[in-house]
Amino acid sequence: MKISAGTSLAALAATAWFATTALQAPGGATMAAAVNADRLLAAAGDASNWLTHGGTYAEQRFARLDQINAGNVSQLGLAWFHDFDTNRGQEATPLVIDGTMYTTSAWSKVMALDAVTGKVKWSYDPEVSKDRGFSACCDVVNRGVAAWNGLIFVGALDGRLIALDAETGKVKWSVVTVDQGQPYTITGAPRVVKGKVIIGNGGAELGVRGYVTAYDAMTGKKAWRFYTIPGDPAKGPDGEASDEVLAAKAGSTWSGKYWQAGGGGTVWDAIVYDQELDRLYIGVGNGSPWNHEIRSEGKGDNLFLSSVVALDPNTGKYIWHYQGTPGETWDFTQTQPIVLATLKIDGRDRKVLMQAPKNGFFYVIDRETGKLISAKGFVPQTWTTGVDPATGRPIEVPEARYKKAAFVTAPSALGAHNWHPMSFSPQTGLVYLPAQEVPMQYESQAGYAHRPGAWNVAIKMIAMEPPSDRAVYKATRALLKGQLVAWDPVKQKEVWRVQYDGPWNGGTLATAGNLVFQGNAKGSFQAFDASTGKPLWSFAAQTGVMAGPVSYTVNGVQYVAVTAGYGGAYPISGGFGDGPQRVAPNGRMLVFKLGGTATLPAWEPPQLPPPNPPRDSFTTAQISAGATNFAENCAVCHGAGARAVGILPDLRRSGALDDKALWASIVHDGALKENGMVAFSKWINRDQVETIRAYVGAQAKMLQAEEAGK
Ligand code: CA
Repeated sequence: MKISAGTSLAALAATAWFATTALQAPGGATMAAAVNADRLLAAAGDASNWLTHGGTYAEQRFARLDQINAGNVSQLGLAWFHDFDTNRGQEATPLVIDGTMYTTSAWSKVMALDAVTGKVKWSYDPEVSKDRGFSACCDVVNRGVAAWNGLIFVGALDGRLIALDAETGKVKWSVVTVDQGQPYTITGAPRVVKGKVIIGNGGAELGVRGYVTAYDAMTGKKAWRFYTIPGDPAKGPDGEASDEVLAAKAGSTWSGKYWQAGGGGTVWDAIVYDQELDRLYIGVGNGSPWNHEIRSEGKGDNLFLSSVVALDPNTGKYIWHYQGTPGETWDFTQTQPIVLATLKIDGRDRKVLMQAPKNGFFYVIDRETGKLISAKGFVPQTWTTGVDPATGRPIEVPEARYKKAAFVTAPSALGAHNWHPMSFSPQTGLVYLPAQEVPMQYESQAGYAHRPGAWNVAIKMIAMEPPSDRAVYKATRALLKGQLVAWDPVKQKEVWRVQYDGPWNGGTLATAGNLVFQGNAKGSFQAFDASTGKPLWSFAAQTGVMAGPVSYTVNGVQYVAVTAGYGGAYPISGGFGDGPQRVAPNGRMLVFKLGGTATLPAWEPPQLPPPNPPRDSFTTAQISAGATNFAENCAVCHGAGARAVGILPDLRRSGALDDKALWASIVHDGALKENGMVAFSKWINRDQVETIRAYVGAQAKMLQAEEAGK
């Protein structure tokens, strides 16, 4: 392992054992994924490996390695790459344990790769039914695995938690963690704490009630469950760890029949263990539906939506919470990555938790008490003027709740920061944050009624979409920005930034080589000077790079790895296909070292089929109704305004668009169910299906004219 300047003697002493002694399997062979409690607790001193999702339990994503550094990073080259079998979104952070990389691809597929050569040791496909993709708000992504005592754990999109033999990839146990009759999904990485594997879920756009569950890592036996919000009072307590606190603190903060659409509060990303205080912090998501007026009669804070909640990892019992957005009504999840550190604030060492959730505030919270230390907006915000330091509550702009009129909120549902991991360098004291600016118009959906299994946000979806008119569309697009921000969490201010002309850029990695690595939406993977932001190195990845990079060593050689592949909420549903439309290449694992000489094969995107407007004529009323029906039912997968970006099919180019019967057989009856295109007969009738054809047809005509004009 590489020891850098500043590694303490204590850390060295703690790591010496691991450097020389891998865990032994019975019979004396070295065990794969030999991760135990001591090893996870000492991960900060074990810089060769990336043992848990955020690198160590503190999830700083800081690699204590400096073989690759600001002085030589220009010599960084591709060591190897591994092609995945899909161009769906790639969000995984790989683990690297004693020379083996364990990672995931879309559809919850898992693989073990030789970390030096990329050779596949095994791969595992949980064979998630393709129609489950419909329940995924934001693509069929997966953010990675956890490891413990020879096992690798993955949360599958359909709600299973699966333990694999790290040596062979064979299933050791599998449990169903959700009611599969409801639109739950899992995209987040499990974490292992004290022999328990902990997993949450997603689905609050479609209508579920969120929770997190701990299972015995060796057997899959459930240990405890914590529901983040109350259930239907008529059903009584759940008999779970959350019963007491939901009754004492949360119940009175909800009104109306909030349980009908589940209520939300899913824990779909951040689950972080505090080894100093023996606590678990979970990030809790948005309300279901989003609209607070409809969800809870416009009343109450709706605990514990949009909060960080501290739990006892042994029992699942509540310790404290901090709610960033009381009465959440904008899809302001607080699930975003959580980073733990000790910071000197006003001359005193404080154990802090740092988080930059969707609502646009950078929070520094006292981990011991859950009290706010400071909060500062890191992007322009129209919904608030700041956080009241006395109460810790945001000072809202009243109109932002769109009760009487539509309101353009910045940031919005896509977040000032989404799931893309941020990192913290104890050397520079800076947090490296992939921030973004995406305003959206919120307008209450008149006549909203819950539709089981479909999107249920109670917001007029069409009002959120970018407009069709080309000039207005371009002007709106120009408002969208993204930036890599180096943020000083003590002073709560930006130190430097790298500006991008669009959102959805990659997660970050900070290293002891004074570097920050980040991929971006436009297909570059880059290294910056951690102190100044100066660009030092860049690699053309052929596709957008969103995932969090990692670094590790094998046989004294340092590597940097990142998952390449574009997708997820913004590109799929956003409707801002930047640049010419093209088919995205499949995702890949990219691994770099100094002097690496591998090269990617040239990528020639296949020709897209031409726009295929129907020969039938439609009434203006049909087209207009179709616009609404498309926005409510189709846009989140096929792109706002029917502008898909080449990840899911662009319906304007669909061979079925000119054929009424074929179109209905797919959209209404589910002829392409095996491909993930579910039957919409549950939610819309044949006439509505035909209006969607009318609308997409009109969009196809516009596209045809545009392409002819080129
Ligand atoms: Ca959400």
